[in-house]
Amino acid sequence: MWTRDQGTTPGFVEQARQLAEARAVIGWLRGGSQTVQQQALRDFDQARRNYFTGSHRSPTWRKAGKHEGFRIVGSQAGRVEQVSRKWARVLVPKVGWVRFRVSRPVPEAKSYRVNRDNAGRWHIAFAVAPDPIPAPRNGEVVGIDRGVTVSAALSTGELLACPGLSESEQRRLAHLQRRLARARPGSNRRSRVRVAIAKLYARATARRKDWVEKLSTDLARRFDVIRVEDLRIKQMTRRAKPKPDPARPGSYLPNRRRAKTGLNRGILASGWGLLVQRLEHKAAGRIEKVNPAYTSQMCSRCGHCVPGNRESQAFRCQSCGYCDHADLNAAINIAAGRAVSARGDRPVRMSVKREPQLTTSA
Ligand SMILES: [Zn+2]
Repeated sequence: MWTRDQGTTPGFVEQARQLAEARAVIGWLRGGSQTVQQQALRDFDQARRNYFTGSHRSPTWRKAGKHEGFRIVGSQAGRVEQVSRKWARVLVPKVGWVRFRVSRPVPEAKSYRVNRDNAGRWHIAFAVAPDPIPAPRNGEVVGIDRGVTVSAALSTGELLACPGLSESEQRRLAHLQRRLARARPGSNRRSRVRVAIAKLYARATARRKDWVEKLSTDLARRFDVIRVEDLRIKQMTRRAKPKPDPARPGSYLPNRRRAKTGLNRGILASGWGLLVQRLEHKAAGRIEKVNPAYTSQMCSRCGHCVPGNRESQAFRCQSCGYCDHADLNAAINIAAGRAVSARGDRPVRMSVKREPQLTTSA
């Protein structure tokens, strides 16, 4: 609704003042925690800033049942008590004491977040940036190639598969999806089936995250330098553009959308983006991104580089006869590769009240 002659729009400070005014007159607003409401405004401010700098898309509305969660900051975030070995409780403003299962020792944190996932489970996360894992100082370098059939191939010869859903779980998922398609919109059955599907997806996500966390910790402990492909995952996974047919207006040429969708699913399912992100957190400054051009076609032993070297999953050099798994050959090339964009650690400037952000090497 904003136009140029209207002057500046209210920023966070002005909005926080308006919030205080509104809380004085509106009863239901006063019934909620001021910290939670202020932090929502802060999130909005951040979202808007990201939009204007061009790194993110425009902010969208929060959706009930989907974006359930809030953040508590400051001294209120420190009211945590251990109840037993496995349980602790936290004093949530305007709610009272809430018990939670302790999955790891509760750290001294300046803020925490409470979130609900798609499967309806509530989580609490205390914001602390852990220290990166120290380098082993053994001079070892590893290259990782990401693939779809093999999720990650290490130059040491390890071929790793990221776990997803089992075959019977996939059958159950397909069955539930058919039932969802038949269920009447807005019915109780539909919401029940939706929750069941969300639970299956949540299980797959949990397995993927567990795999990524364990692998990234293992790699950070074992190797001094970790080289990965410099993939623009975001661009690769974006939907294929429709191509208009010049001969027949209103119709479209084949753009291999279906093929690309299948590949997208493979890339996202293998958790590649998450693996690189977590590696950057745990082994800050020791990750090098390598230009992936020709890594799958070049022979890692003699350097001979022709497209014919690669026969789907097998690599066979046409010059020296070297044979290996295609992803493994690529991983060795990546391990030997030179970094194309290795920026050092960037200093982070922020208020102590803010959630700590991890430093990453891009
Ligand atoms: Zn060769």
